[in-house]
Amino acid sequence: MREYCGIFGVYSPTRNVAFTIKKGLFHLQHRGQESAGIVTFDGQKFNTLKNFGLVAEALPDSLVRDMNGFSGIGHTRYSTFGDKDSFNNIQPISIFAHNKYIALAHNGNLTNADMLKKELVKEGRVFHSTSDSEVILHLYVKYMNLSPLDRFRIISNSVRGAFSILILQNDTLFAFRDKHGTRPLIMGINGDEFAFASEVGALRATGFKHIRELAPGELAIVQHGRVSTYIVEANAPKNQCIFELIYFARPDGVIFGKSVYDFRKESGRILAKKEQYNIDIVVPVPDSGLMAALGYSEEGNIPLEFGFIRNHYVGRSFIAPSNREEKVKMKLIPVRNIVEGKSIALIDDSIVRGTTSGKIISLLRENGAKEVHMRIASPPVKYPCYFGIDIPTRDELIASNREIDDIRREIGADSLLYLDIEDLYTLIRPNKKDFCYSCFTGRYLYTPE
Ligand code: SF4
Repeated sequence: MREYCGIFGVYSPTRNVAFTIKKGLFHLQHRGQESAGIVTFDGQKFNTLKNFGLVAEALPDSLVRDMNGFSGIGHTRYSTFGDKDSFNNIQPISIFAHNKYIALAHNGNLTNADMLKKELVKEGRVFHSTSDSEVILHLYVKYMNLSPLDRFRIISNSVRGAFSILILQNDTLFAFRDKHGTRPLIMGINGDEFAFASEVGALRATGFKHIRELAPGELAIVQHGRVSTYIVEANAPKNQCIFELIYFARPDGVIFGKSVYDFRKESGRILAKKEQYNIDIVVPVPDSGLMAALGYSEEGNIPLEFGFIRNHYVGRSFIAPSNREEKVKMKLIPVRNIVEGKSIALIDDSIVRGTTSGKIISLLRENGAKEVHMRIASPPVKYPCYFGIDIPTRDELIASNREIDDIRREIGADSLLYLDIEDLYTLIRPNKKDFCYSCFTGRYLYTPE
């Protein structure tokens, strides 16, 4: 399961920002690894650098060095909407209209993009990509004659879905979070400079102090050295993605007002309280199960052991096997003397298809584990996501039409325990109603049109 995209934008009155944006994108790399891009405005025109691959490959220092501009935006991409091999789909995407340079970086997914695109094409607007994000760019241009507030209000009312966006219009930077607040967008400050990022970690790493998350439906405008914020749309129901806390966001961050680290650790504590088996050691699936395993270990007073070492050198430069099981084997190396003869609580954040969990369990058994008890720090994922996360179709989700014991048998565990949806509500209390749980419950705030 993967996230759609990380975005990062900077406004500075005095210095070139391309390197800062590149550094910020490094710290958002976990949100998208297919491509990366930067656009800056140098006072006359846009400078654009984008390519396929990881940030380091797509944005080489030798080229970033030549990018002048005190304002800029950047993007790391993971796609499921549009052709992932099309260069034109790499963001930021930009356009020259009304004598202005305009670029867009988008994190999320639109549920009515096809319908809007048809209307815009009928009006004679020409699309250069197959990404849903270009719809937002065309709507922005269509309403350029309106004030920014009215323009974003129309975008907010026209577009359905998740969209945390950054728009650079010449050197003016706009940051906007959709009215349901599905994806995060965080504002930072460093003296007279302002930055916006999908996660706090990218702000901290680039020297910006975290001010706050933009509220759902809030617009920030940075121009002439000042930031102004406006609530474009208030009172819409919130639909913040609970999976940001469960898995996607980096654990050093604060997302939707919650410490990601604390949330995950607490989820492990809840699992430990429900334990009914005699467990010798707690083993996290690296890195997704680390914090929950720590909480489980502390609560259950059971030693935490690293039964797997992660091979950090399996990257895109390696010719990766296409087989998922082989990939797991290359990535996770079992530590035989730790797991041999032990009854293990194996902790992970979620099970999607089940193939990875099955392989991890069989690796433990091959290395002498006596029992493997799988503990999952979220409820069963049964339904797809329409809000920017690549969750496979229902047919591919192991939990979509199976009972827990059937899943246990299929992945080869001695026992299997998930968190309940009620446990999630406990973890985010008192804000239960502000979150999206659709991939667990099948109840959506809205569905594709
Ligand atoms: S359906 Fe699941 S992954 Fe998608 S936004 Fe809702 S909680 Fe997040």
